[in-house]
Amino acid sequence: MTESFIPYGHQLIGEDDIQAVVEVLRSPYLTTGPKVEAFEKAVCEYVRSPYGVAVSSGTAALHAAMAAARFAPGDEILIPTMSFLATANAALYVGAKPVFVDSEKHGFNLDLTDAEKKITSRTKGIVPVHFSGQPVNIEAVQALAKRHSLTVIEDAAHALGAVSNGRPIGGLSDMTIFSFHPVKHITTGEGGMVMTSNEALAKRLRQFRHHGIDVDVIQRDTQQRWRYDMTGLGYNYRLTDIQCALGISQLRKSEEFLKRREAIAAAYDKAFTHAPFLERPPRGRTSDRHAWHLYIVRLKAETSGLSRDEAFEHLRSQGIGVHVHYRPIHLHPYYAALGWRPGDCPQAEATFSAALTLPIHPSMTDAMVQRVITAVERLPDALIVKNPVS
Ligand SMILES: *Cc1c(COP(=O)(O)O)cnc(C)c1O
Repeated sequence: MTESFIPYGHQLIGEDDIQAVVEVLRSPYLTTGPKVEAFEKAVCEYVRSPYGVAVSSGTAALHAAMAAARFAPGDEILIPTMSFLATANAALYVGAKPVFVDSEKHGFNLDLTDAEKKITSRTKGIVPVHFSGQPVNIEAVQALAKRHSLTVIEDAAHALGAVSNGRPIGGLSDMTIFSFHPVKHITTGEGGMVMTSNEALAKRLRQFRHHGIDVDVIQRDTQQRWRYDMTGLGYNYRLTDIQCALGISQLRKSEEFLKRREAIAAAYDKAFTHAPFLERPPRGRTSDRHAWHLYIVRLKAETSGLSRDEAFEHLRSQGIGVHVHYRPIHLHPYYAALGWRPGDCPQAEATFSAALTLPIHPSMTDAMVQRVITAVERLPDALIVKNPVS
């Protein structure tokens, strides 16, 4: 008998979500209708942000934010190399240059000392990523940004529901982006949103997602006018009403989802307290709330002889959908061709080579969590039998 595969992340869709989508399919608006604004309003209330602009993906949200910030060719943007590559690609979309920042010594978030060292007269922005859902010290980022006149765009694709020093992530910086991909906290299939407290930025973002067409004129259009003006270059980055209805329904369960993620993280923490061959993920400040998008352990290969790659293969063979988040962006061939080299961000490279993501998502049962724990606990026996020490 083979046990089912446990993926590292998975959506949780209920009958209520299905009903919400079906309702839109029976309504007059499949896109650019009332569900879009309703979803934006719901996310704004949840994260306490004045404006939210829904777009077709988290990547589109990053692109829109970089364009709204007016990043342009010649500008340098500080990007943690320990992120999903979309964070850096978005800077390239607007012609700016990503400058990769190393990770903190004992964690996955960006090292602000390294960020400050890499600032030049061309640096215009910084994109902190709340890696795995652990809040970045945003006050420190903002102090740095203020000293050097940088725009802050938070990549909170891992951090919907997270709290930084008592304040929800989403309303803290110039702009913050979320992703609603199925592995993230809530899903719209594909989708994203840019949050801002700046009305002018919100207007630019709305225009950018709709071909660069002046949105005020669109509003006048409802008064039966045919004319509209395109005043900038934009894209079709709209999110449909079908997706927004799913998002509204999912968001109602966000707290429940987050509590389940916290419970799973707590079970792993407890089980691995005395596992000498791994290091548990950092917890952060007590004034923070971790959103536990990912639970990443680091294998201590030097002391235990257990390598990440062997652990990965063994756990996969047991049906445990472990993963690696992520290969540092600067190590990808595309970025190597732009001049980045191994050794440019040594801490992130070391963290990457030891990192192993264990499954964590609200559709995991207690039995699934226990299966992961047992398989991880048995790693030393399983691997030492395979490679006897000579
Ligand atoms: C998922 C993710 C994105 C991109 O979001 P999509 O909705 O998949 O386009 C960007 N940054 C980070 C850190 C992510 O994890």
